[in-house]
Parts: sequence; C-alpha cells; structure tokens
Amino acid sequence: METRSEQLFEAAKKYIPGGVNSPVRAFGSVGRTPRFISSARGDRIIDVDGNEMIDYICSWGPGILGHTHPRVIQKVQEACEDGLTYGAPTEKEVHLAKLIAELVPGIEVSRLVSSGTEAVMSAVRVARGYTKRDKIIKFKGCYHGHSDGLLVKAGSAALTTSVPDSAGVPADYTKNTLVAQFNDSTSVEELFAANKGEIAAVIVEPVAANMGVVLPDEGFLEFLREITERCGALLIFDEVITGFRLSLGGAQEYYGITPDLTTLGKIVGGGMPIGAYGGRKEIMEMVSPVGPVYQAGTLSGNPIATTAGIETLMILKEDPGIYKRLEQKAKHIAKEVKETAGDVVCVNQIGSLLSIFFSDRGVTDYESAIASHTGKYAEYFSYLLDAGIYVAPSQFEAMFLSEAHTEEDISYTCQKMKEYFSRFRSTKGK
Ligand SMILES: *Cc1c(COP(=O)(O)O)cnc(C)c1O
Repeated sequence: METRSEQLFEAAKKYIPGGVNSPVRAFGSVGRTPRFISSARGDRIIDVDGNEMIDYICSWGPGILGHTHPRVIQKVQEACEDGLTYGAPTEKEVHLAKLIAELVPGIEVSRLVSSGTEAVMSAVRVARGYTKRDKIIKFKGCYHGHSDGLLVKAGSAALTTSVPDSAGVPADYTKNTLVAQFNDSTSVEELFAANKGEIAAVIVEPVAANMGVVLPDEGFLEFLREITERCGALLIFDEVITGFRLSLGGAQEYYGITPDLTTLGKIVGGGMPIGAYGGRKEIMEMVSPVGPVYQAGTLSGNPIATTAGIETLMILKEDPGIYKRLEQKAKHIAKEVKETAGDVVCVNQIGSLLSIFFSDRGVTDYESAIASHTGKYAEYFSYLLDAGIYVAPSQFEAMFLSEAHTEEDISYTCQKMKEYFSRFRSTKGK
C-alpha cells in the first residue's frame, strides 16, 4: 500500500523538478521517500499520513522556538488583517532594524531582503563597492546561498583557481571568487599574497554548519579579523544559521569578534522569508538610495514576515536563560551518543547545533567532513525516521535544537540513537 507521501511525491515529480522546491528535501542521499508535512506544533512535525515525528530539522534553523509558537502566530494573524504587502515603508521595519542593531554587535545599519541568498549576494556587492576591489575569498564547504558568484569549488590548482559548482554558472562569474580551506590560515595568507590589493572581502560561516557542523579552531576567526584589517579587506560573517542561535548576538558575540558586514536569515524571519545584511553605518551608506550600490526588493520588509521576525527576536531577548537551556539539550544528546557510539562517530556540538559524523577521526574542514561514511548515515537516518525521529536527510546538515524540545522527547531520541549505535557497533566487525 502506497502512503499518501508516496502518492504526493509521484504527483509532485510531474510538476516540480524532482518533486521538491529545494534539493535536500528529496531525501536523495538517504534513499527514502520524503514525508509531506501537513502541520507542526512545538517539537513535533506531522505528515500527511498522520506520522508524528520529533523534529530536529526545525526548517533548517528558523524554528528556534519550536513550531507554531502561540505569540508569534497571534501577532502574524493580527498583522494579516491589516494587509499582506504595501511596497512602502512601515513602522515594523524600523522596529526590526533597531532590534537587529541592538542585538548584533557588528550591525548599526541593516537592510532587509527576502532570503539568506539575497542577503549574502548583496553584502558581497557592498564589500566590493566599498573597497573598489573585485575578488573575494570563501572557504571550501561553507555555503552562502545559491547566487552565481558563490557557487564555486576549488579548481585543480586549488590556491589560484576556482570553478563553478553548478551548471549554468559562467566561469567568468566565479573567477573573482577564491577558495581557501576552513581552519587553515596559511591557505588564506597565500591567497592574500598572490592577490595583493585585490581582495574586497573574506566571507565565512564563523561556525560552518553546511558541511555538517564544523567549529573554528582556536584563533582562526581572530586571524581572519587581523588579516582582513591589515590588507584593507572587509570581513563578512555569514550568520544566516548562527545569528540569534549561538547567542542573541550570534557567533560574533559568542566569540567576541566583530566583522565588518554580517548576513542574517532563518531565525531573523521567525519562520517567514526574511534575510538581512548590515554593518557599520559608513559601509552601509554605500547602499542605494544613499550610495552607489544598487539593491532592491518588491517584498523586502514585508509586514507579515517582519512581524514574525520581531516577535521571535523579542521572545529570545526577554528570556536570557534560553541559550543555556538550548545548549544543555544539545550537550545531552552529544554525550549519550559519544558514550554509546565511541570512536565510530565524531560528534561536533556548539550551542544548539550538533552533527554526528560517521567518521572515526576529527572533522575540522571540508576534506575531513566528506570522509564520513554516508551509507552508514543513511542507515541511521532510516532507523530514526521509522522510530518517529526526524533528523536531516543528509550527513552534511546540522541537527537543530529548539526551545520546544521536551526532556521526554530528547530522552526518547537518545534511547533510539543508543539502540541504533549498539547494533551498529555489534555488527561492525562482521
Ligand atoms: C541557509 C543559508 C544561506 C541561504 O539562505 P536561503 O534563505 O536558503 O537563501 C546562506 N548562508 C548560510 C550560512 C545558510 O545556512
């Protein structure tokens, strides 16, 4: 008997490429049929067949409060009554921009857009406009959305060339994007030395969370701050995941390092489509209509999305204990997995972000991340899914904890993970 999800997936594939509106949702690397979701509440997500699952994807990050937080939903409902969009300024945008400036150390002035991709694309444009330089440095394994210039991988002469990481991106569009190795200062120094006076910015996920969670080595972010300053380049922290997640002020507050520009997304929209980029006033004054860098958006600062963002940030701000509780939950899972799985896995955890790599060595960069055993991950994923636990359908995505995760659900999750790992270990030698 086909499930409703299976039927819908077949139907979806007729009208939508691969049946999904974002590739990872297709469950391609885990060999299962994606669950079509009908509703979600708290830490639970419910599919069209009535399967209720404990959700550790949390929409890939926005769901820090859990699903359908009553305060957020109420404000959004009220806002809908006043109209969905005007294409004109509103008081709410002032409120959100002020909140962002208050919470994020590196941001005085910010611009709202509709996605993380747009935020990063625009921040890079500002950095280039401000420095009057063209080249940027990004890190292998860091994801910054799908704009042409950032969809690059290192070329064969790794330190000097980069090539498009997607069909349809002209090589000309990526020739100004240089690729360095995460946690490898030498690779950055070499790029600066080979491109003197040409680097506009270094962009980094201060905690990488799109190759699985990979922490910056001690001193690495300090090094990036120092070399960019020394060489007249800007430092851009892509905090689309880490913003409002590692702490109220994001990774920059957590590590005490202030970048020149910051990009935000995910949590800042409280579950609605918002991205934002911002920095010091002097830099952001490059942006049109004040300055010469053009950037616009029909639905930018949308009143409904802005309402969800404001309410979410207000709830986080009012509750200083929240980050500690979130971290304890992630630590709990990390500890139990390490105890049972031992050296079969590498667990990287920081704040409410967590990755369980199927690798017997430390994961500190792209190479060590992709050395993980994705087949074993798929098996683990299936085991959890069948037990009603919804984790990312890819080894290279983070596990997200929310305020709504109950102790009971976390204990159940740990029990199922331990069950899986004790079997996995006992069959390891066969
Ligand atoms: C998700 C993400 C993006 C892209 O955001 P979208 O809203 O999906 O366009 C950019 N950077 C990082 C670090 C992300 O995690």
